[in-house]
Amino acid sequence: MRAVRVVGYHQDLQMVEIDEPTVQGPLDVIVKIGAAGVCRTDLHILEGQWEAKSGVQLPYTIGHENAGWVHAVGDAVTNVAVGDKVILHPLVTCGLCRACRLGDDVHCENNQFPGINTDGGYAEYLRTSARSCVKLDDSLEPADVAALADAGLTAQHACAKAARLLRPGDVCAVIGAGGLGHIGIQCMKAMSSATLVVVDRNPEALALAKEIGADHTVLADGNHVEAVREFSGGAGVAAVLDFVGEGGATAEGVAMLRNAGNYYVIGYGENIDVPTIDVISTEINFIGNLVGSYTDLQDLMTLAAQGKVKLHTAQYKLDDFQQAIDDLDAGKVRGRAILIP
Ligand SMILES: [Zn+2]
Ligand SMILES: [Zn+2]
Repeated sequence: MRAVRVVGYHQDLQMVEIDEPTVQGPLDVIVKIGAAGVCRTDLHILEGQWEAKSGVQLPYTIGHENAGWVHAVGDAVTNVAVGDKVILHPLVTCGLCRACRLGDDVHCENNQFPGINTDGGYAEYLRTSARSCVKLDDSLEPADVAALADAGLTAQHACAKAARLLRPGDVCAVIGAGGLGHIGIQCMKAMSSATLVVVDRNPEALALAKEIGADHTVLADGNHVEAVREFSGGAGVAAVLDFVGEGGATAEGVAMLRNAGNYYVIGYGENIDVPTIDVISTEINFIGNLVGSYTDLQDLMTLAAQGKVKLHTAQYKLDDFQQAIDDLDAGKVRGRAILIP
């Protein structure tokens, strides 16, 4: 089969012919890839940023946002059958460790991460496990949802945490209405009665935010912290969902919070620099978010099937993988880029 592989860091990806993956264990599932999302993490992998962290042996097949059709299953697989449409939770998890038993799939002690530390989905077929397959509603196609498997899942995970605590009348600020933020806005709108105030530097991003459910939008023009606080009667907002995490967004976001407010870190890059006396005197909380659980992905697919979360995609043929990578690197992709084998 054709597969696009990392052959070296600071080098272009290469398409090569390799053997198709085969069922090796009783819970293995081979998926015929319908679409694979092209993610900024893929660029970071090529830059070598994940080299030490993943410890992956080169060459290997990249691509961690995958959806397609079940092609073959191991003896013990009962939850999916050949031909089923599936999206894949990005991690292959053991199901037996304490984190797995708590439903915290991302922190599985024995996990594999196809596309990061084992062969991924820029290929015709991928091996995963039964535990990672989420069946798709008839109305959804792999190409519609593949790119939700990682970025969308992270947004869903953070929004679900926020939505569980927000009450009617609470105000929630969303910082950043880009690729991740525009999924988050839709998730919040679907799951929470809180008033959503979306902040961005780009007026076009704010116009889109308004279309997809923002109650109010605020241009980040220097007066935006006060403007956001005014929507909460001056007391500050109950929650901030920070999809940016750099360029000063964090300090501004903290200044938007009310006492005992929650700060959800999703985008990242800069440090949180808050005096500890402020943390104790205001009882604000900082909450990290890493991908999401299997059930978060199920919930996100339910919202997608209900038409409540929609993703804009730019489709490329698998053979045109380099164009997709170059366009992403140059900031030319509208929505999320996906590769179709
Ligand atoms: Zn990704
Ligand atoms: Zn586990």
